[in-house]
Amino acid sequence: MSARERDRLVLMNPGPVNADERVRAALAGPDMCHREPEFAALLTRVRSRLVQVCGGDRDWSAVVLTGSGTAAVEAAVVSAPPRNGTVLALDNGHYGQRMHDIAAAHGIATRRLELGWGNPLDLAALDAALAADSSITHVTVVHHETSTGMRNDVHAVAGLVHRHGRAVIVDAVSSVGADPLDLADSGLDWVAGSANKNIEGMPGLSFVCGRRTAFEALGQAPTRSYYLDLHRNFLAQQVNTAPAFTPGIPAFYALDTALELLLAEGVEARGRRYLALAERLRAGLERLGLDLLLPAGHRANSLTAVRLPDGVPYREMHDALRAAGFVIYAGQEHLAKNYFRLSTMGCMTTADVDDFTAALGAFLGQVRPPVPGASAADRKENP
Ligand SMILES: *Cc1c(COP(=O)(O)O)cnc(C)c1O
Repeated sequence: MSARERDRLVLMNPGPVNADERVRAALAGPDMCHREPEFAALLTRVRSRLVQVCGGDRDWSAVVLTGSGTAAVEAAVVSAPPRNGTVLALDNGHYGQRMHDIAAAHGIATRRLELGWGNPLDLAALDAALAADSSITHVTVVHHETSTGMRNDVHAVAGLVHRHGRAVIVDAVSSVGADPLDLADSGLDWVAGSANKNIEGMPGLSFVCGRRTAFEALGQAPTRSYYLDLHRNFLAQQVNTAPAFTPGIPAFYALDTALELLLAEGVEARGRRYLALAERLRAGLERLGLDLLLPAGHRANSLTAVRLPDGVPYREMHDALRAAGFVIYAGQEHLAKNYFRLSTMGCMTTADVDDFTAALGAFLGQVRPPVPGASAADRKENP
């Protein structure tokens, strides 16, 4: 089937995702002033639904920012550390390094525990680093490291960090909505997320969740950013029930609807839906003789990094699959040469996954000889 024959382009990039029709329709809501009661009601509902999605209770709060996921990560990193605070960044991929670089860009003292892309976090090394350096106040960690598709055990990290009396800042941008965060039980201190990945809203909004008392205490921390200052945004949204700055109102309409759909489905159920699609996709890729970057135990439920077969040009593969109706996503930095990424986030169906696997098989059949050991059925599909 060509893209034209399909009714839509299937997005296999890790957000923005294919959205539900009801979410897209919500974008066309009424013109609205953000300092009137109707926006206050929308803002309050969205913030409370975000806390629910993150598994927080009445002690937790959310602040919504107009900006992509990076805005929320940056807001948490620049707002949480006190004067003379030091950030230790756990780095096992692009986004782990980015949290370090954000802190450094704002002049915050930083340390980095570099583990190498695709390697699991090393709790013993973290334990030693915290024991050795009492200046560290905050540890930054990525939940789903989207550059490799690795799921990091942020709850184990938080437990260890808390035993040392320090706090964690979690980039949950590509996990929130499909991986339970259990804020009320696990006590992750700061969590950053965005509207347009597993929450299946539209791009343009992001958010930070934290304890209400922690947001209040930020009044004592230095102001390192104006727009992204969490205390300023918290006071505006919590006390005045109006945002500090003009929000992306249509994206709010979409996020409100997306959160309603997510809470009806359930975060765990959504995670299982994505995982079933990912496992179907991975089985199909392996039948085609392709290698995956990570071993099974470390893979996230919504993204798979795949080795580009020798001699297959990524651009050509991308363009052929795009013509067939699928957008695939390149690897980042040094993985760009040999790996590409496939997300199973959003409104994707098993038929989409099967059609994609067939289209990929057909393309590979044209550019490389048949894989020894591939089944006869696969070979017939890929003459
Ligand atoms: C997508 C993503 C971000 C934010 O990206 P934006 O382009 O700013 O939305 C941050 N961290 C992770 C882990 C991501 O996957």
